[in-house]
Amino acid sequence: MGAYNIAKMVSYKASYTCQICYKSLWSKMYEYQSYSYSSRYKPEHFKKVCGDCVYKEVFGGNLWRIKKKEGVLDGECTL
Ligand SMILES: [Zn+2]
Repeated sequence: MGAYNIAKMVSYKASYTCQICYKSLWSKMYEYQSYSYSSRYKPEHFKKVCGDCVYKEVFGGNLWRIKKKEGVLDGECTL
């Protein structure tokens, strides 16, 4: 894949504005950072990301809806 991602849920319920789609939410909040070995630029570290955006960024295409339903990123949460 050539990339390594941080994608994890940081809160079950948080009031925040998603840093990718700019929606105001009261919902699960995720953290996301993508590393690309081919890029010299430090990627932006998103600390407030909604479920739709984080799953789209990580899985893309049509897969993200399936993965979101499975909740594969949600298990990383440590409260
Ligand atoms: Zn979003």
